[in-house]
Amino acid sequence: MTAGDPAADLVDAGLLVPTGLPGVYGRSAAFDDVRRAVGALVGDAARAEHAEAMHFPPLVPRRQLEQLGYVRSFPHLLGTVFAFEGGERDAVRQAETAERHEDWSEFQRMTDLVLAPAACYPVYPAVAARGPLPEGGALVDTGDAYAFRREPSEEPTRLQMFHQRELVRLGEPEAVADWRDAWRGRALELLRDLGLDPRAEAASDPFFGRSGRLLGGSQLEQGLKLELVVDIPGSGPTAVASLNHHLDHFASVFGLRTSAGRATHTSCLAFGEERIAVALFRTHGLDAGGWPDAVRAALDPLQG
Ligand code: AMP
Ligand code: ZN
Repeated sequence: MTAGDPAADLVDAGLLVPTGLPGVYGRSAAFDDVRRAVGALVGDAARAEHAEAMHFPPLVPRRQLEQLGYVRSFPHLLGTVFAFEGGERDAVRQAETAERHEDWSEFQRMTDLVLAPAACYPVYPAVAARGPLPEGGALVDTGDAYAFRREPSEEPTRLQMFHQRELVRLGEPEAVADWRDAWRGRALELLRDLGLDPRAEAASDPFFGRSGRLLGGSQLEQGLKLELVVDIPGSGPTAVASLNHHLDHFASVFGLRTSAGRATHTSCLAFGEERIAVALFRTHGLDAGGWPDAVRAALDPLQG
């Protein structure tokens, strides 16, 4: 570990375990207990709203992201799965090339898989495949789900693979807008209960390139993305969660219909579990045993 490593405090405390890759860490039990307790807190709120649990692996069909325009909008973030396809001679040549640490990509073919860039992506096609939504729409809790984004960084709040816990609301446009308005306050409150001082800010996604800047501008103008930002000691202002309104973007691609056969809107609320855990350790101390009673009480499983 080098001096000035922005993750040094967390690594020295044994909370994060370096792998040699930027933005890819192992986690100790002490770190993961907190991360999972944060997820469970979101899960409790979801259960109170009768959310349905849907847990997916961190892979999605490549075709779905193609349909959604993800490849155009976020080419820099997407991780695509390639795998070996060939005969024995190719396998030997591949191994020899790999053992010399040279480029062996010529032996690899693109598969039908990409890494899930967010926990909510598998939910929309899965709900659409069931037919029209039930009356009142649907609410899904993704559980603690891995997401991948190709944004290597030394900053421990910017990982290449991290957990999101997402709530996904699908239904009539008005009902989805109301849900989003209600959760703006509820999500701020959830973070305040953890002794954090969040604020909601209008934001946009990091769309790629010049045309991407236009898309980001329009997203901002329409107020479609809100980030909950916390000042994390040592890392500065950091979005720890976001509320995203997709209008009919997902619904139109996957043919989602309400019970009345009308077009559907969707919104999601995504909590970044590692970011919230880092915010808690940096704010309340690197030993969770010494955190304020109110914070430990809010993170119920830590009590045990
Ligand atoms: P987004 O879809 O970008 O709004 O992401 C939702 C939440 O996931 C963010 O508010 C962060 O808490 C978390 N998140 C996004 N990107 C990363 C990353 N590279 N490393 C860690 N957490 C992230
Ligand atoms: Zn989402």
